[in-house]
Amino acid sequence: MAEITGPVRVRFAPSPTGYLHIGGVRTALFNWLFARHYGGQFILRLEDTDEKRFVQGAADDIAASMRWVGIDWDEGPDIGGPHAPYVQSERKELGIYQRYADQLLASGHAYKCFVTPEQDEAMRAAWAASGARPERYRFRGPERDWTPAQTAEAEASGQPFTIRLRVPMDGATSFSDLVRGGDQITINNGDLYDLVLLKTSGMPTYHLAHLVDDHLMGVTHVIRGEEWVPSAPYHIMLYNALGWELPVFAHVPNILRQDGKGKLSKRKDDVSTNRFWERGYLPEAMFNYLALQGWSFDDKTEIMSRDEIVERFTIERVQASPARWNPDKLKDMNGIYIRSLPAADVADLLMPYMMKAGMVADPPRPEDYSYLTRLTPLVHERLEELQQAPEMLSFFFQDVEGYEPKLLIQKQMDAGRTIDMLRAAHATLNTVQVWETGELEGQLRALAESLGVKVGQLFGSIRVAVTGRSVAPPLFDTLAALGRERSLARIAAAAAALE
Ligand code: GLU
Repeated sequence: MAEITGPVRVRFAPSPTGYLHIGGVRTALFNWLFARHYGGQFILRLEDTDEKRFVQGAADDIAASMRWVGIDWDEGPDIGGPHAPYVQSERKELGIYQRYADQLLASGHAYKCFVTPEQDEAMRAAWAASGARPERYRFRGPERDWTPAQTAEAEASGQPFTIRLRVPMDGATSFSDLVRGGDQITINNGDLYDLVLLKTSGMPTYHLAHLVDDHLMGVTHVIRGEEWVPSAPYHIMLYNALGWELPVFAHVPNILRQDGKGKLSKRKDDVSTNRFWERGYLPEAMFNYLALQGWSFDDKTEIMSRDEIVERFTIERVQASPARWNPDKLKDMNGIYIRSLPAADVADLLMPYMMKAGMVADPPRPEDYSYLTRLTPLVHERLEELQQAPEMLSFFFQDVEGYEPKLLIQKQMDAGRTIDMLRAAHATLNTVQVWETGELEGQLRALAESLGVKVGQLFGSIRVAVTGRSVAPPLFDTLAALGRERSLARIAAAAAALE
């Protein structure tokens, strides 16, 4: 593998055609990690040449998603840079792409093509009608062989035209890819078609525009999704035709759906970055998880800080085989990151979720902060998404409504004995002097013994009485935080509900 010596420049070049899919963030992240690892630059460039698919607001959304995960850029639409503008539609206005399309026309590597979409259809149909395999059809414009006079005549008549690459009829094109072990990938030119470089509107296609920009912006490594591998031979031809040095290619693997059936898709999967943010994923957890979607440090290390990943990231360890999306794993990892934070910080992170659920005032009052800070340690260990907190903590904010006898009555108990037990607990707790965890536990353990019931039976019923559920935070901490008055009222209400 060629060692990387010179300064590296890489880019992420999203098309603002919708929100940024989490797989796109992964590709951006690999570029960013590469730049940061080698001390180079990371460029953000907007590829908005597909006017039909343009979505208003998408560019801001993309930038926000990247920032959320912690990906910053050294040059880009919002901050400018030595190669501004960084938006392709603005670059088109400057005539940048036209200039190179003209150069390709002049050198004979491209030609003006007047074939209309209807004629294109007809050519395809004629191919199929001749008995040839439809998938073997490769567009070749008749204008490839026109004389300059023929072209000039058609142009003078005002017919719209595209500018297409004149792909050689024979020979082959090869390129190598860092991720695929640097092996040469070879494609027969006969398997390629005459690609459109400039549309009739004068707008460049992705192929021409990205390549011109990568060259002008001094991009040294093109790190992009593997869906671009089939297009790479065209790009090689274009670099050669323009007399430009090739960048190094690294096509990073696709991310497959969890069941391995097909690629992660916007249509079928929950892959919008915003959704993760809304559900309470920590950006550090997402960063760590995404870094492992196609890259690994070794075969075992998973939890790594941002700095460790930057230090360890190399393209050699990017795998060629697809990655597999695993939301459960991501959730686990988020739990690990949540647990690694001090409870007070988690409380601050939870506040917006509590507000949104209507459990605390908007804006929160000082007492809301202190109460939530007190409650957070009770659920800290179990949280995997911040959005789970309002549900986990709801009984601290709302009374229990409608007791389920099934839950209140523990194993080997009946309604009558449960009522007696709850009343005894009520009496004991009523007399507890210091309402705090240790004292509450001591008193209730003694009570279980004197009643001759198992602690599990007593604690189980009290837990359901005060929380309404059988799985809840540690009981004595819960009672302590809930306070005497509310605890006693709920125990009494539970006993009454069993009558
Ligand atoms: N605009 C292209 C896309 O969004 C960029 C591909 C590339 O990185 O070259 O897929």
